Amino acid sequence: MEPPSSADAPTSRLAAALPWLRHARRILVFTGAGISTESGIPDFRGPNGVWKTTDPRRYTIESYISDRSVRVERWRARLESRFSDALPNAAHLAVTRLQRAGLVTMVVTQNIDGLHQRAGAVNVVELHGTSSEAMCLDCGRRMPIEVALDRVREGDDDPHCERCGGLLKTATISFGQPLVAADMDRSIDEARRCDVCLTIGSTLSVWPAATVPVEAVRHGGRLVIVNDGATDLDGMASLLLAGRAGTVMTELAAALLGGGDSR
Ligand code: NAD
Ligand code: ZN
Repeated sequence: MEPPSSADAPTSRLAAALPWLRHARRILVFTGAGISTESGIPDFRGPNGVWKTTDPRRYTIESYISDRSVRVERWRARLESRFSDALPNAAHLAVTRLQRAGLVTMVVTQNIDGLHQRAGAVNVVELHGTSSEAMCLDCGRRMPIEVALDRVREGDDDPHCERCGGLLKTATISFGQPLVAADMDRSIDEARRCDVCLTIGSTLSVWPAATVPVEAVRHGGRLVIVNDGATDLDGMASLLLAGRAGTVMTELAAALLGGGDSR
């Protein structure tokens, strides 16, 4: 495998990826918070990430369960967040374009924002759950997030399950919470089959999610990383494409499929 190329000369680097992507039978796209920053949703570890102002320890499942003030804070933040208004950006649309052209078989995302689906992608695995639903941590009952948020709006700052009294939480996976085994299994299966794993906007530092690109490489797939900044798996990559996801992915889709139309 060739060593990763240097961070300059973006156009020629992009050209290096084209034969692999064009001739791939299966491309697995793996995305993180960085693909959605251009839609106005902050990431965690980027230069303007959430960790710059918030203590990650307040994002663990243990603190959610044991500390009422954490739950009140999370619900208030969810109410104020503009998640529901966010729109897919050029990078999400380019991924959908590659999928409609038959190149991308599966999109595995660590994001909880639903933007791949809103951009028209199918076969999307949401490894860390979804912000569009709430669930009871005791009986597992799920409901649209707006049902829970309406209760917060009406003054219940720490809503509980109406059926069993358990704690309600956004249906996302917090630190310390196990992933859904079936979702991880599907992702790993595809990672082992793909020719190219194209990661976009992730530090590839959150485990076990990062097992997906690692398994792709272990089973002979190439790793192509699109990210504005270093990742933990740069050393495993066949190619590093540094830059903004919207720009790099639009160029990549245009070079592979022609045209500048992001759909
Ligand atoms: P991360 O926050 O660890 O890293 C994001 C990476 O993307 C950083 O290296 C950053 O420099 C880069 N980046 C930021 N904007 C970019 C852009 N426009 N183009 C290219 N690169 C860009 O993200 P992660 O690895 O996905 O881990 C964060 C965890 O937090 C995930 O597991 C996810 O579940 C969760 N999260 C999700 C959202 C969301 O749903 N949009 C937002 C924040 C956090
Ligand atoms: Zn319940």
